[in-house]
Amino acid sequence: MNYKVELIDLRARYAEERKKILKILDTTLKRGNLILTPELEDLENKISRYTGSKFCLGLNSGTDALMMSLWACGIKKNDEVITSSLSFVASAGSIAHLGAKPIFVDVNDDLNINPDLIESCITKKTKAILPVHWTGRMCDMDKISKIAKKHNLIIIEDAAQGMGSFYKGRHAGSYSKVAAFSAHPLKNLNGIGDSGFITTNSKDIYEKIKLYRNHGLAGRDVVKIFGVNSRMDVVNAQIIKFRLTKLKTIIKKRKMNVQLYKKYLKTNKVKIIPDKKYESNSYVMFITICENRDGLKKYLEKHKIQSLVYYGTPLHKHIASKQYNIKSNLKNSELLSSKVLALPHHQNIKKNDIIYVCKKINEFYEK
Ligand SMILES: *Cc1c(COP(=O)(O)O)cnc(C)c1O
Repeated sequence: MNYKVELIDLRARYAEERKKILKILDTTLKRGNLILTPELEDLENKISRYTGSKFCLGLNSGTDALMMSLWACGIKKNDEVITSSLSFVASAGSIAHLGAKPIFVDVNDDLNINPDLIESCITKKTKAILPVHWTGRMCDMDKISKIAKKHNLIIIEDAAQGMGSFYKGRHAGSYSKVAAFSAHPLKNLNGIGDSGFITTNSKDIYEKIKLYRNHGLAGRDVVKIFGVNSRMDVVNAQIIKFRLTKLKTIIKKRKMNVQLYKKYLKTNKVKIIPDKKYESNSYVMFITICENRDGLKKYLEKHKIQSLVYYGTPLHKHIASKQYNIKSNLKNSELLSSKVLALPHHQNIKKNDIIYVCKKINEFYEK
């Protein structure tokens, strides 16, 4: 499909950054040292400074970051970990990969885990809560922290979409023992391939993951534990370092996009989730709640506007979740997954494109 307006346009971004990216590639490849170099450490320090955490480690992906965070917190076979039922599969998959059981909790109308439903899901086996900051909007971390404290549970944030997100003035990752971030090409702070990182204030967690990401090697020939290979490569590290300097501007532009949508959408059939006073959403995605979602999506498609459903299937409804025999009813997740639609939204989108999208949406509901 040749779209007039794309959901996310990475080619436009490349066109903007081409010179700089090619220069980074050239200098990095000329140097020839590509794995676990001081350049990676430099990026880790810069991310720590940005997020206000003591430590950061660059990894292969956000999924690995989640898995290693859970592992480093001691999550193991038969433990239960509470998470949101409306997320990307990795939030649950990382729990399942350690042999633990994801316990899905229903979401609020803001698409984030409903903290008021968490306590009733806590059992003797519950070890941790894994809140997901969906679309870059942070969960209600005050309530979640209180519950975790009361029941002696660890919090691990799925901050895959949380770079540049704040809750009551504190950056994503500040409310947990360890937080997992993604630098996948579709996130706000992104590499040119898969990559991710963790942040933590715990030296112990930092040391564990540092070993684990690099085969458990404490020296060239000293294996302390059996680990994996999950290191952010230096080309990605250098590009992410460059893009970190632009992150504030990018988020500003993304917030402006949302303001434009608010201004030009003239229908009450498309609900824009309001921002709370104390949150600063980084708007990795712009997801709206639409009446007749599938009809609207088709109509936009006809007018060469790309939109995407994130996601039509809540996590507990996937084939992979059948093993858990989930009986609880997660009504809001099920209802909202039939209404969510992400609209074109990225830092290179033109104002006129947003106006065009709004016009077509208004038109669809007027008919
Ligand atoms: C992107 C994403 C992940 C996975 O990150 P990858 O870097 O793609 O492995 C996990 N959780 C959420 C909420 C995400 O959006």
